[in-house]
Amino acid sequence: MGLRYKFTRTGVRCAADSDSAKKHQQFGDRTRKLSWYEMIQDLVQIRLLGEKKRPENERFRRYLKAHDHSERRMRRIAEEIEEEIDCTVCANCCRVATVRVSDRDIDRLTRHLGITRAEFLAQYITLSDEEGRILHRKESGCVFLDGNTCTVYENRPDTCERFPHLVRGNGSIASRMWQFIDRACYCPIVYNALEAFKAESKFTR
Ligand code: SF4
Ligand code: SF4
Repeated sequence: MGLRYKFTRTGVRCAADSDSAKKHQQFGDRTRKLSWYEMIQDLVQIRLLGEKKRPENERFRRYLKAHDHSERRMRRIAEEIEEEIDCTVCANCCRVATVRVSDRDIDRLTRHLGITRAEFLAQYITLSDEEGRILHRKESGCVFLDGNTCTVYENRPDTCERFPHLVRGNGSIASRMWQFIDRACYCPIVYNALEAFKAESKFTR
């Protein structure tokens, strides 16, 4: 079964099909226990639960807007979850999300690869109607992904460096909650953070 959606790192969701779900690497069935929350890291479970909880997550987004909460506490929770999850084992965002690139990203990547800008654009960039310049994708995900390794890691685009934009993002977590509903379907950090935020804020499911 392919993914029903193509995910983007800028939070736009569009109908498309992808075989990348078949290629999801699983973390196995292990779960890790923080002192206050049991994390799920299995990517198949994350996808199923993230989709199932879309309506609940939408309600939670509205709940956060209407109720007082501590941004500092939410950031601390998000940091704690980021520290617990090893992105080099996961790399799921590199498989399922598109990457928009800026001029600065392109300059850095052309220097890194030792090729001209024209060569870079021809070999590595796809023009998307919705998103503009995005990194070319193979069936297995981003053109720069090799197994679970980013082959341009030191010079990867800014959006990759900051992904999933939970702790490092502009504005409060609550104001950016709209982005996280999609990401909770494929990113273990986001899925677990939303669940932990709900528990922390006494949200009624
Ligand atoms: S550039 Fe690297 S970090 Fe960014 S999506 Fe591609 S493989 Fe992943
Ligand atoms: S940011 Fe999320 S999806 Fe990407 S590698 Fe880390 S845990 Fe996986």
